Amino acid sequence: MHNYIPYGRQFITDDDIKAVSEVMRSDFLTQGPAIQKFEASFASKHNSTFGVAVTSATTALHIAYQALGIGQGDIVWTSPNTFVATSNAALYLGAEVDFVDIDTDTFCMSVSALEAKLNQAESQNRLPKLVVPVHFGGLSCNMKSIRELSNKYGFKIVEDASHSVGASYGGQPVGSCQYSDACVFSFHPVKIITTGEGGLITANDKKIYQDLCMLRTHGITKDVNEMQADDPAPWEMEQQILGYNYRMTDFQAALGNSQLKRLNQNIARRRALAQKYREGLNGLPIHCQGIAKGVESSWHLFPVLFENGVTRRAVFDYLREHNIGTQVHYMPVYWQPYYKDLGFKKNLCPNADDYYSRCLSLPMFHGMTDEEHDYILFCLREFFK
Ligand SMILES: *Cc1c(COP(=O)(O)O)cnc(C)c1O
Repeated sequence: MHNYIPYGRQFITDDDIKAVSEVMRSDFLTQGPAIQKFEASFASKHNSTFGVAVTSATTALHIAYQALGIGQGDIVWTSPNTFVATSNAALYLGAEVDFVDIDTDTFCMSVSALEAKLNQAESQNRLPKLVVPVHFGGLSCNMKSIRELSNKYGFKIVEDASHSVGASYGGQPVGSCQYSDACVFSFHPVKIITTGEGGLITANDKKIYQDLCMLRTHGITKDVNEMQADDPAPWEMEQQILGYNYRMTDFQAALGNSQLKRLNQNIARRRALAQKYREGLNGLPIHCQGIAKGVESSWHLFPVLFENGVTRRAVFDYLREHNIGTQVHYMPVYWQPYYKDLGFKKNLCPNADDYYSRCLSLPMFHGMTDEEHDYILFCLREFFK
């Protein structure tokens, strides 16, 4: 029997372990030099002015929405084909959420569905204050068109780029915020690079950056220029807003720095595996994600859509019997019991519902060997024989 191949996994080297150990022996376990370095190198690698490291993408989404002014009664829209955190973070703030259907080709938020929904919302005076496109699997949404709609309808944009470290769109890295107000990344171990748990927000606006820094640390500032007191004593700090403790530790940031050094290799490997999948699956009743010109996925996931008539469960079971792990990304968020209790009904987004009934994410990770990949393709072809 072949060794178990999971759908995704982290890739940790001796250099990573060394980098973490060095911080463990240093003066700073949290908010030291490794954090500053991680924020600066991540931001520069993704062509953004600022980077704010936090405990997870979930907390990153929470304070990004808050920094953009989302609160009680505001309306936030996102894709149903995402992890629940994207919309939960809006609920933390007392906002109302709603979902925009996905495109059947890219499995990302559909621009035409967004436009139609905006049109209708305008007539009902219920326009969203914020739209959160999710770059599904690592593939960027059509950000240029979403930005055009935001200019017309006046909403803000946070990109949920949890899957997209190292992806690009229109020649710019995802994270440059060329078409958004802020962009959020995840460093959970199944994602592209890891810090154990962790997240980061990129932004170009100084005010957003300052608010994010304060929200991350209890709403406190230590910057004398920002203080309300006339003549603050040297020990003074001021809590000006209600914030949280969402700080990443320095040893996590050290792991992030070490992982970031190998990002190019990591993405190159994923691209090669994705290319081999696309060639190897040719001729089978399987659709891969449609990729527009100028868009490069980071391939966090390799999602496929089976043609009608294929029983997804049978493929899942067959692969599992052959020690190959796959996963379904995602059950539409509004199918979750919690969202059902909020009043959401199945069928809200027909494309997302249909996608969920036929999709499967095949194994995809940096450390996958050619032999493992050949074995997965072999098993898939055997199944369809
Ligand atoms: C993983 C993920 C999150 C949450 O990330 P954490 O770092 O685990 O909090 C949010 N959105 C999407 C799309 C994700 O895949």
